[in-house]
Amino acid sequence: MKIAFFSDVHANLAALKAFRDDIRGEKVDKVFFLGDAVGYGPNPNECLEIVCGISEVCLMGNHDYAALGLLDTSGFNQYAREAIDFTERILTEENKSRIAEFELEYQYEDFHMVHSTPEEPGQWDYIVTLEDADVNFGFVKRRICLIGHSHYPAIICKDNGAPPALIKEQSVKLDKKKSYIINIGSVGQPRDNDPRSCYLIYDTKKREARLKRVEYDIADTQNRMREVGLPDYLINRLEKGR
Ligand code: ZN
Repeated sequence: MKIAFFSDVHANLAALKAFRDDIRGEKVDKVFFLGDAVGYGPNPNECLEIVCGISEVCLMGNHDYAALGLLDTSGFNQYAREAIDFTERILTEENKSRIAEFELEYQYEDFHMVHSTPEEPGQWDYIVTLEDADVNFGFVKRRICLIGHSHYPAIICKDNGAPPALIKEQSVKLDKKKSYIINIGSVGQPRDNDPRSCYLIYDTKKREARLKRVEYDIADTQNRMREVGLPDYLINRLEKGR
């Protein structure tokens, strides 16, 4: 069986459609969404409908939470805040109730999924360093923890007492005796200097986790962003992937 895990769509409809086409091509059996369907991008309503339509489970991201008016956005930068104001204004009531159903964390077979950190899923902290990862391994409830949030894909492995290590390959056969924290990257706003969408495919038979990149029509999303008056900073960063 093949499972796709995706995160951080951020209302980027062209990217989401390219992802959806790609998982069809991969003949994926199951799909899980790790949060932030909205924020930053121009099409929150259309994206929510697709995300909820294809995903077995949807997790709550900080931008989703903010779009419900439940998060104090003073910690957001000015551009993120402008985008959230726009999102709150145009989200339909039906889509707000969809977001309200999102889960903070979810466990399925070998996977513990959360948007931010397993230590405190509702605090929206980041796992940036291997030290952050080391602390968080103590809170992982299954063998493999999948996260999003930083938009920076990474596979981190921990072998019992040894300190965690970053795996350089984009595709890894997971060792049953080790545990992993995998950041699955972002579909709608990658920030690792590669502007292509990123998501994770897991093949249960081969026990192989693979970070996959997908090209999408960046200019189309940028045009839509201009039409609705989103900040230039957010428009420009998409083509740079940061
Ligand atoms: Zn995000």
